[in-house]
Amino acid sequence: MNQKIKIIIGILVIWAATLSILTVYLFVQANQLDDRVVVLEPVKLDCEIVNGKKHIYKNQCLPENYEPQVLTELSKRASWLGTYQYLDIRAKMSIEQLIVDAEKDGMCLAVVSSYRSKEEQQRLIDDAPLSHIAFPGQSEHHTGLAVDLGACPMKDGKRDDSVERLELKNPFGELLEYQWLKRNAEKYGFEESYREDNRSETGYPPEPWHWKMIVR
Ligand SMILES: [Zn+2]
Repeated sequence: MNQKIKIIIGILVIWAATLSILTVYLFVQANQLDDRVVVLEPVKLDCEIVNGKKHIYKNQCLPENYEPQVLTELSKRASWLGTYQYLDIRAKMSIEQLIVDAEKDGMCLAVVSSYRSKEEQQRLIDDAPLSHIAFPGQSEHHTGLAVDLGACPMKDGKRDDSVERLELKNPFGELLEYQWLKRNAEKYGFEESYREDNRSETGYPPEPWHWKMIVR
Protein backbone atom coordinates (compact mmCIF):
# COMPACT_ATOMS: atom_id res chain seq x y z
CA MET A 1 0.00 0.00 0.00
CA ASN A 2 1.04 3.46 -0.75
CA GLN A 3 2.80 5.04 2.23
CA LYS A 4 0.60 8.14 1.99
CA ILE A 5 -2.64 6.11 2.17
CA LYS A 6 -1.28 4.24 5.22
CA ILE A 7 -0.65 7.55 6.97
CA ILE A 8 -4.14 8.84 6.08
CA ILE A 9 -5.78 5.63 7.38
CA GLY A 10 -3.68 5.89 10.54
CA ILE A 11 -4.81 9.45 11.13
CA LEU A 12 -8.44 8.48 10.49
CA VAL A 13 -8.23 5.61 13.00
CA ILE A 14 -6.72 7.86 15.68
CA TRP A 15 -9.32 10.53 14.94
CA ALA A 16 -12.21 8.04 15.22
CA ALA A 17 -10.84 6.64 18.48
CA THR A 18 -10.46 10.13 19.95
CA LEU A 19 -14.00 11.00 18.92
CA SER A 20 -15.41 7.85 20.57
CA ILE A 21 -13.55 8.48 23.83
CA LEU A 22 -14.72 12.09 23.83
CA THR A 23 -18.34 11.04 23.21
CA VAL A 24 -18.26 8.54 26.09
CA TYR A 25 -16.64 11.16 28.35
CA LEU A 26 -19.26 13.79 27.52
CA PHE A 27 -22.07 11.27 28.01
CA VAL A 28 -20.78 10.34 31.49
CA GLN A 29 -20.37 14.03 32.38
CA ALA A 30 -23.89 14.84 31.24
CA ASN A 31 -25.32 12.04 33.39
CA GLN A 32 -23.39 13.25 36.42
CA LEU A 33 -24.70 16.76 35.83
CA ASP A 34 -28.21 15.34 35.76
CA ASP A 35 -27.66 13.87 39.22
CA ARG A 36 -26.58 17.23 40.57
CA VAL A 37 -29.68 19.11 39.41
CA VAL A 38 -31.64 20.16 42.49
CA VAL A 39 -35.09 18.64 42.37
CA LEU A 40 -37.45 19.92 45.02
CA GLU A 41 -39.19 17.13 46.88
CA PRO A 42 -42.89 17.50 46.27
CA VAL A 43 -44.73 18.21 49.50
CA LYS A 44 -46.13 14.91 50.66
CA LEU A 45 -49.79 14.66 49.83
CA ASP A 46 -50.58 12.72 52.97
CA CYS A 47 -49.20 15.39 55.31
CA GLU A 48 -51.51 17.49 57.40
CA ILE A 49 -51.46 21.08 56.12
CA VAL A 50 -50.79 23.62 58.86
CA ASN A 51 -50.68 27.43 58.75
CA GLY A 52 -47.19 27.87 60.25
CA LYS A 53 -48.37 29.82 63.28
CA LYS A 54 -47.55 26.98 65.67
CA HIS A 55 -45.06 24.13 65.30
CA ILE A 56 -44.53 21.92 62.28
CA TYR A 57 -43.96 18.27 63.07
CA LYS A 58 -42.84 15.46 60.80
CA ASN A 59 -46.27 14.56 59.41
CA GLN A 60 -47.23 18.19 58.79
CA CYS A 61 -46.48 20.68 56.02
CA LEU A 62 -47.14 24.25 54.97
CA PRO A 63 -49.51 25.02 52.08
CA GLU A 64 -47.66 24.56 48.77
CA ASN A 65 -47.47 28.27 47.91
CA TYR A 66 -46.75 29.40 51.45
CA GLU A 67 -44.43 32.38 51.77
CA PRO A 68 -43.77 34.23 55.02
CA GLN A 69 -45.01 37.79 55.53
CA VAL A 70 -42.49 40.64 55.55
CA LEU A 71 -38.95 39.37 56.06
CA THR A 72 -36.61 41.79 57.80
CA GLU A 73 -32.88 41.64 58.40
CA LEU A 74 -31.73 41.12 61.97
CA SER A 75 -29.36 43.51 63.69
CA LYS A 76 -25.65 42.71 63.63
CA ARG A 77 -25.76 42.09 67.39
CA ALA A 78 -28.46 39.45 66.98
CA SER A 79 -26.80 37.74 63.97
CA TRP A 80 -24.02 35.18 64.15
CA LEU A 81 -20.68 36.68 63.17
CA GLY A 82 -20.39 37.23 59.43
CA THR A 83 -23.96 36.13 58.62
CA TYR A 84 -27.12 37.87 57.42
CA GLN A 85 -30.30 36.67 59.09
CA TYR A 86 -33.89 37.36 58.06
CA LEU A 87 -37.11 36.84 60.01
CA ASP A 88 -40.76 37.80 60.02
CA ILE A 89 -40.86 41.29 61.56
CA ARG A 90 -42.64 39.97 64.69
CA ALA A 91 -39.99 37.33 65.32
CA LYS A 92 -37.21 39.82 64.60
CA MET A 93 -38.47 42.33 67.20
CA SER A 94 -38.97 39.60 69.76
CA ILE A 95 -35.69 37.70 69.32
CA GLU A 96 -33.67 40.93 69.33
CA GLN A 97 -35.26 41.90 72.64
CA LEU A 98 -34.63 38.40 74.01
CA ILE A 99 -30.97 38.62 73.03
CA VAL A 100 -30.55 42.08 74.63
CA ASP A 101 -32.20 40.91 77.86
CA ALA A 102 -30.17 37.68 77.93
CA GLU A 103 -27.00 39.74 77.72
CA LYS A 104 -28.08 41.72 80.78
CA ASP A 105 -28.16 38.36 82.60
CA GLY A 106 -24.64 37.55 81.38
CA MET A 107 -25.78 35.25 78.55
CA CYS A 108 -24.49 35.64 75.01
CA LEU A 109 -26.87 34.48 72.30
CA ALA A 110 -26.89 35.01 68.53
CA VAL A 111 -28.98 33.71 65.64
CA VAL A 112 -27.09 31.11 63.61
CA SER A 113 -29.90 30.29 61.18
CA SER A 114 -33.29 31.89 60.55
CA TYR A 115 -35.53 32.07 57.47
CA ARG A 116 -34.68 29.46 54.85
CA SER A 117 -36.25 29.26 51.40
CA LYS A 118 -37.32 25.87 50.05
CA GLU A 119 -34.22 25.82 47.84
CA GLU A 120 -31.90 26.45 50.80
CA GLN A 121 -33.68 23.70 52.72
CA GLN A 122 -33.19 21.28 49.84
CA ARG A 123 -29.48 22.14 49.74
CA LEU A 124 -29.15 21.23 53.43
CA ILE A 125 -30.72 17.85 52.73
CA ASP A 126 -28.43 17.29 49.74
CA ASP A 127 -25.41 18.07 51.92
CA ALA A 128 -26.52 15.72 54.72
CA PRO A 129 -28.85 13.12 53.19
CA LEU A 130 -28.84 10.83 56.24
CA SER A 131 -29.81 13.47 58.79
CA HIS A 132 -33.22 14.33 60.20
CA ILE A 133 -33.57 17.61 58.30
CA ALA A 134 -37.15 18.53 57.41
CA PHE A 135 -38.24 18.46 53.76
CA PRO A 136 -38.81 21.78 51.98
CA GLY A 137 -42.28 22.99 52.90
CA GLN A 138 -42.06 21.07 56.16
CA SER A 139 -39.43 23.15 57.92
CA GLU A 140 -40.29 25.67 60.62
CA HIS A 141 -37.48 27.81 59.20
CA HIS A 142 -39.63 28.48 56.12
CA THR A 143 -42.14 30.40 58.26
CA GLY A 144 -39.62 33.13 59.12
CA LEU A 145 -40.61 32.54 62.73
CA ALA A 146 -37.95 29.99 63.76
CA VAL A 147 -34.33 30.41 64.77
CA ASP A 148 -31.32 28.27 65.52
CA LEU A 149 -29.46 29.95 68.36
CA GLY A 150 -25.81 29.73 69.26
CA ALA A 151 -23.90 30.94 72.30
CA CYS A 152 -21.21 33.52 71.64
CA PRO A 153 -18.06 34.66 73.44
CA MET A 154 -18.28 37.61 75.87
CA LYS A 155 -16.00 40.11 77.51
CA ASP A 156 -17.03 42.46 80.34
CA GLY A 157 -20.67 41.44 79.94
CA LYS A 158 -20.82 42.20 76.20
CA ARG A 159 -20.55 40.00 73.12
CA ASP A 160 -16.98 39.97 71.90
CA ASP A 161 -16.24 37.63 69.02
CA SER A 162 -12.50 38.16 69.37
CA VAL A 163 -12.18 36.40 72.74
CA GLU A 164 -12.13 32.68 73.41
CA ARG A 165 -14.78 30.97 75.51
CA LEU A 166 -13.84 27.36 76.08
CA GLU A 167 -17.26 26.02 77.09
CA LEU A 168 -18.58 26.88 73.62
CA LYS A 169 -16.96 23.63 72.53
CA ASN A 170 -19.71 21.83 74.48
CA PRO A 171 -23.09 21.03 72.92
CA PHE A 172 -25.57 23.92 73.09
CA GLY A 173 -27.89 21.90 75.34
CA GLU A 174 -25.20 21.83 78.05
CA LEU A 175 -24.66 25.59 78.16
CA LEU A 176 -26.06 28.14 80.62
CA GLU A 177 -27.58 29.98 77.65
CA TYR A 178 -29.82 26.99 77.01
CA GLN A 179 -30.94 26.94 80.66
CA TRP A 180 -31.69 30.67 80.39
CA LEU A 181 -33.83 30.06 77.29
CA LYS A 182 -35.71 27.28 79.09
CA ARG A 183 -36.63 29.77 81.82
CA ASN A 184 -37.25 32.87 79.72
CA ALA A 185 -37.95 32.26 76.01
CA GLU A 186 -41.67 31.82 76.55
CA LYS A 187 -41.99 35.46 77.68
CA TYR A 188 -40.87 36.44 74.18
CA GLY A 189 -43.25 34.03 72.48
CA PHE A 190 -40.59 31.42 71.63
CA GLU A 191 -40.90 27.69 72.28
CA GLU A 192 -38.35 24.89 71.99
CA SER A 193 -39.83 22.86 69.13
CA TYR A 194 -38.14 19.46 69.31
CA ARG A 195 -37.47 18.10 72.79
CA GLU A 196 -36.75 14.68 74.24
CA ASP A 197 -40.14 14.64 75.98
CA ASN A 198 -42.17 15.35 72.82
CA ARG A 199 -40.06 13.31 70.43
CA SER A 200 -42.77 10.74 69.70
CA GLU A 201 -45.14 13.60 68.81
CA THR A 202 -42.70 15.66 66.69
CA GLY A 203 -40.94 12.82 64.87
CA TYR A 204 -37.61 14.67 65.18
CA PRO A 205 -34.73 14.13 67.60
CA PRO A 206 -34.21 16.92 70.17
CA GLU A 207 -32.76 20.21 68.85
CA PRO A 208 -32.06 22.41 71.90
CA TRP A 209 -30.85 25.25 69.66
CA HIS A 210 -34.06 25.44 67.61
CA TRP A 211 -36.82 27.79 68.85
CA LYS A 212 -40.00 28.93 67.16
CA MET A 213 -42.19 31.91 67.81
CA ILE A 214 -45.84 30.99 68.26
CA VAL A 215 -48.19 33.56 66.75
CA ARG A 216 -51.96 34.02 66.61
ZN1 LIG B 1 -33.56 24.87 63.17
